[in-house]
Amino acid sequence: MTVPLSRGSSRDGVWKNAVLLCRGVDAFGRPRKEGRSLAATPRVWRSINEIARDGAKGWRKAWMGIDRTKHYDVAVLGGGNAALCAALMARSAGASVLVLEHAPIAMRGGNSRHTRNLRAMHAAPASVLSDSYPEEEYWDDLLRVTGGVTDEKLARLVIRESSRVMPWMAEQGVRFQPSLTGTLNLSRTNAFFLGGGKALMNAYYARAERAGVDIVYDTEVISLDLEGDCVLGAEVLHEGVESTVRAKCFVAASGGFQANIDWLKEYWGEAAENFLIRGTPYAKGGILRDLLSRGVAPIGDPTQFHAVAIDARAPKFDGGIVSRLDCVPFSIVVDRASARFYDEGEDVWPKRYAIWGRLVAQQAGQIAWSIIDSKSEKLFMPSVFPAIRANTIAELAGLLGLDPASLEATVKAFNAAVQPGKFNSQTLDECRTQGLTPPKSHWARKIDSPPFIAYPLRPGITFTYLGVKVDENARVIMSEGRPTKNLFAAGEIMAGNILGKGYLAGIGMTIGTVFGRIAGREAARHAGN
Ligand SMILES: Cc1cc2nc3c(=O)[nH]c(=O)nc-3n(C[C@H](O)[C@H](O)[C@H](O)COP(=O)(O)OP(=O)(O)OC[C@H]3O[C@@H](n4cnc5c(N)ncnc54)[C@H](O)[C@@H]3O)c2cc1C
Repeated sequence: MTVPLSRGSSRDGVWKNAVLLCRGVDAFGRPRKEGRSLAATPRVWRSINEIARDGAKGWRKAWMGIDRTKHYDVAVLGGGNAALCAALMARSAGASVLVLEHAPIAMRGGNSRHTRNLRAMHAAPASVLSDSYPEEEYWDDLLRVTGGVTDEKLARLVIRESSRVMPWMAEQGVRFQPSLTGTLNLSRTNAFFLGGGKALMNAYYARAERAGVDIVYDTEVISLDLEGDCVLGAEVLHEGVESTVRAKCFVAASGGFQANIDWLKEYWGEAAENFLIRGTPYAKGGILRDLLSRGVAPIGDPTQFHAVAIDARAPKFDGGIVSRLDCVPFSIVVDRASARFYDEGEDVWPKRYAIWGRLVAQQAGQIAWSIIDSKSEKLFMPSVFPAIRANTIAELAGLLGLDPASLEATVKAFNAAVQPGKFNSQTLDECRTQGLTPPKSHWARKIDSPPFIAYPLRPGITFTYLGVKVDENARVIMSEGRPTKNLFAAGEIMAGNILGKGYLAGIGMTIGTVFGRIAGREAARHAGN
């Protein structure tokens, strides 16, 4: 159920917390963190004033909607795919479950609501999946993209379990559909969600509400009270008022930190201001940072992220899939100086699309342009924004703000290097350049048929790789190597255990679903003991 905001506040408890707040300590008796003092949180003052003004009515109104007298078995921190899988599994095992989602109801579901598919192992055609996708092939694909930066035991666990998740997802109300043409050729390996990630998340939330999972929105988990190996409670902020949630077990499923531009700046400097965040603005990494600061073992390179080239006209956050640009393999990509900087035809797009965000991030001003001609226009799914068109390369350069002579010279040099060959957009064809640096290894055709077409590219950050270390029971591991007693993690916050670098389309949702299910099951089991 969705918990009403005024539910079950106890006047004594409110008063106690108000006193603690005023004394400058939090509900755990620790000194309040800098930057979250009462003076720095005017909304807290507002609530305290409301209490003083309106008496008992104010107490109820000002306090958050969680039943603070209730001691949940499992508190799930986050509200995306991994969180809901954990919540549903824990509830079905008989645990009382609370989901704490930072986003408001209309934006619930994190990055998961932007997704379209998940990658699943299968021995024979199953549901919407064709042919077979055996464990060894899945493992080889993962090895190739990660370069071996993966925990084989956990990776194989995800791969094997992926063969079991689709029937369970269907039971929760998720519907599948065959892949559309032009969607990175994934019909064999990836199952697409009918209605996309939004429909999937709505199905999970509806099922969770029916099953009696308590859900609170607009509620940010600020920190966990981790004492030794055990989490005693979670400090949460709702409408400017801090409170403590107590539970026997906690599941951290709060995604990455890609929406925290200041954190990204620690590694990327001012360039991070030019990054566009493809998903939720709520992925600020607060829980991740808190856990790492309390001695939880980190996993994954903090400086790295998954990024794709997206239309530079996309909004700063939440642009989603419609701004992705798949024209790169059929184009040349140039920087501000109209120079090419990487082999656009290196490999088939599903295996290479994920490197282009980082490549553009490394260019001056974090901007580039993908240029094709009319021959290639129908070969890829277009951006939601209109293409920029011109009848000559010089005119196109003018529209893009590039130097016409430089762009003409780049196109001329490229055209001169193109070798004759049979073009095939679906395979690694024989159309390549010769004597050009960088080369274009496949799909190299002369750019000579007007109209000439361009899309501006910026790095679109999908998720960060830094996370927390877990074991095969989704239990979070401390830096000294011992597992925590009652803290589990699932989804993006622990994906770095399996995906140390690179990306395999659809594996994000697979990791979240598999580990969400494990975390929910294990948390319920632990709470029952
Ligand atoms: C545009 C786009 C398309 C994608 N397409 C695919 C795809 O087709 N297939 C695929 O496998 N992967 C895809 N991905 C990656 C995929 O979205 C992630 O791997 C997956 O959604 C991660 O799930 P999660 O539950 O860990 O995180 P999320 O879904 O991001 O959920 C995190 C949740 O935590 C909440 N939260 C964060 N901080 C706090 C806090 N302090 N307190 C309380 N709540 C908090 C957020 O509000 C959010 O609800 C895509 C990503 C994007 C951006």
